[in-house]
Amino acid sequence: MKDGLVVAGVGENGRDARDEGLAVSVVVPVYNEVESLPHLLAAISSSLADAGLSYEIICVDDGSKDGSDRWLKAEALRRNDLRSVLLRRNYGQTAAMAAGFYYARSHSVVTLDGDLQNDPADIPMLLAKLDEGYDLVSGWRKHRQDAALTRLLPSKLANLLIGRVTGVQLHDYGCSLKAYRAEVVADMNLYGELHRFLPALAYIEGAKITEVPVRHHARRFGQSKYGLGRTFRVVMDLLTIYFMKTFLTRPMHVFGLFGLLSTALGTIIGLYLTFLKLGLGQSIGNRPLLILAVLLVVAGVQLFCFGLLAELLMRTYHESQGRPIYRVREVIGKNIK
Ligand code: UDP
Ligand code: MG
Repeated sequence: MKDGLVVAGVGENGRDARDEGLAVSVVVPVYNEVESLPHLLAAISSSLADAGLSYEIICVDDGSKDGSDRWLKAEALRRNDLRSVLLRRNYGQTAAMAAGFYYARSHSVVTLDGDLQNDPADIPMLLAKLDEGYDLVSGWRKHRQDAALTRLLPSKLANLLIGRVTGVQLHDYGCSLKAYRAEVVADMNLYGELHRFLPALAYIEGAKITEVPVRHHARRFGQSKYGLGRTFRVVMDLLTIYFMKTFLTRPMHVFGLFGLLSTALGTIIGLYLTFLKLGLGQSIGNRPLLILAVLLVVAGVQLFCFGLLAELLMRTYHESQGRPIYRVREVIGKNIK
């Protein structure tokens, strides 16, 4: 090991002691962003240096295939303000962020995307807001530069839905540019797409949350890693969180409701058939469509409950095992004081 150089191998515990001298740890998840990275790091450095803030940048390479990892490794050996955490493969943005939180040493953590869509010039403003006494400051892309139909509309719906379900109404859950007091993110159990629910998860733990408008730019290089598939996964995560909340306290409210509904539906159909038979004297033994409908309803309810149980089991599995959601290949960086 060279003078002052930290090169951790796989499995090495990365969390260092908090460094009170650092004003902020900037965490960036990176998946195939090699063209953006030089611009991004320059913009972060100049924004924070201009504001007179001491900082460290933690870039987490999430199994890039375009050489982002090599670039980040070389850069971390060259400069003092960067730590590059290279994951073994692509684990997803949530896992990459969780790794970043693990290695962050400042009492304040800021996250932003590696594609220059968020503007590092906004970081000092977010930190000032934290200093006002908030635990989490969420960016709001008031003038978001993404496709309207495939991105803005689904995310508008998602924001409404998430707000309703979690009780924290934000305009823009999906904005990656956020600032957190380190304790808020330090011990979060993240998996799936949960990074976007951080404000809601923090709120459950009693965090004070606010939202401020931030700049947003169109992607200059590369392309978005997400499509409609993510919307689906996010909705599924949301459903799980919702049922998790209810299930833990009153499981009967979940299963009882569906039980009641399906019983009610069966009874109504039964009464209707009885009426046909007794009231109108019709024969009811030859109605395959009706039987099919009943079967579909029953099977649907069963499947839903099974899905739910499976989700809950998975969550219990994740939380009880303490199994990491990512594995680290290498951590490169000089000791930053
Ligand atoms: N990202 C990641 N792992 C992934 C997908 C994305 O670390 O599997 C990073 C990506 O490099 C970027 C951020 O997460 O820094 C957000 O991704 P993207 O810009 O594609 O999402 P969008 O802005 O389109 O929502
Ligand atoms: Mg982006």
